Amino acid sequence: MGIRVQLTLLVPGVVAIALTAVASLAVRASNRDALEEFKELNLTAIEALSVTVATSVAQNDMSALDTVVAHATERLEVHGLMELAVVDDDARVMAHSSPEKFNRVLADPFTQQAIASDGPVWVREGNVMRIATPAVSGIRWATVTARFSLAQMETAFWEVRKRWALGTIGLFFFIAGALFFGLNRVVIRPVAILQQSVRRMGEGHLSTRVPGLPGREMSELSDIVNRMATALQSERENLERTVADRTRELSDANSRLERLAVTDGLTGLFNHRRFQESLHSELLRCERHKRPLAVLMLDVDFFKRVNDSMGHPAGDELLRRLAEVLGRDLRATDLISRYGGEEFAVLLPETTKAEAMQVAERMREAVEQRINETNAWTQKITVSIGVATFPEDGKTAEVVLDAADQALYVAKRQGRNRVVGAKAA
Ligand code: GH3
Ligand code: MG
Ligand code: MG
Repeated sequence: MGIRVQLTLLVPGVVAIALTAVASLAVRASNRDALEEFKELNLTAIEALSVTVATSVAQNDMSALDTVVAHATERLEVHGLMELAVVDDDARVMAHSSPEKFNRVLADPFTQQAIASDGPVWVREGNVMRIATPAVSGIRWATVTARFSLAQMETAFWEVRKRWALGTIGLFFFIAGALFFGLNRVVIRPVAILQQSVRRMGEGHLSTRVPGLPGREMSELSDIVNRMATALQSERENLERTVADRTRELSDANSRLERLAVTDGLTGLFNHRRFQESLHSELLRCERHKRPLAVLMLDVDFFKRVNDSMGHPAGDELLRRLAEVLGRDLRATDLISRYGGEEFAVLLPETTKAEAMQVAERMREAVEQRINETNAWTQKITVSIGVATFPEDGKTAEVVLDAADQALYVAKRQGRNRVVGAKAA
């Protein structure tokens, strides 16, 4: 059950219970007062009557007594009189509002009590009030006893009770209605708005803000929630930035690592591994497109002598220089690598044997001229190059590579510093 329904029932319920309790006390008190007043009024009337009755009985004037009783009956009927009787000490009726009851004996306990009493007596018997008083004129001559109906008064009380009950029910519904609509405006709607915003935040939409809410507490609450969302949002943005930075650093490091894994440390050219990978993939591609592919195997002539005469570091320096010179005139799609030691391998996609021979020759010449022009070396630096092509010299990477190697071997044998093409098998 929602808070609105609970309060809507609880508050007017409590008010109605309190009101009913107060009303019941008030009605009871007013009931008592009214009854007392009723008794006093009628007792006074009966006492006044008893004087006249005493006089008539003292004079033994029975017809005057009858007249007095008849008049009094008529007069007191408006007060609810039901029966009026004058009895002697033996409870025998001397006069009665119903004349046929003359001379009867009223043997009921109240009449007996009234006869025995020196003063007025009264009793309530359900909806009836009985009042009696001695008729005294010098001595006691008789007892006047009357019976009054309380029905009228009870009806009036019921009216009052009914009005209280209706008022209470009306008040219940009024308070319930006012609370129902008032709570909706002051509590339920703002709470629903707050709930909706917080739910969206919980779903990750941290840019959501609670709109301004009526009432100091609700407005403070929405401020707190908004501040919390702002803090969370900036925390998340920081976190995202940090993650992005770390990811970038990691991917940079990965690229560097990848590059290192395929790079020769001395010359900065690609290494043997990368050459092998590229040879295989390029060969497949050229096979698909029915294009030729050339491989050059290049070896420095008498390199050992450089090491021997100038030292290992000078040999390294020569390898670096060679890498520069060899890589200079290649196309972007070509790939040069340090194949191992003082051997280089060059991959020329989409290149025929004749074109490859020209490229190799240009490389050989470039080495012969550029490397030696500084006179930094104790010997003339030259290279020998073996050239093989796919598909002419082999259908697989291994066979083409082997053909280029054999061509290189032939170049060495023929005197070095030359380019030799593989003989097509
Ligand atoms: P050839 O004309 O027959 O090729 O004679 P060569 O002396 O070049 O051939 P050989 O294979 O006998 O010698 C190659 C030498 O290259 C042996 C080795 O010490 C040297 N070498 C291999 N890798 C490096 C390197 O990274 N740095 C240096 N400085 N020398 C290296
Ligand atoms: Mg060698
Ligand atoms: Mg060599």
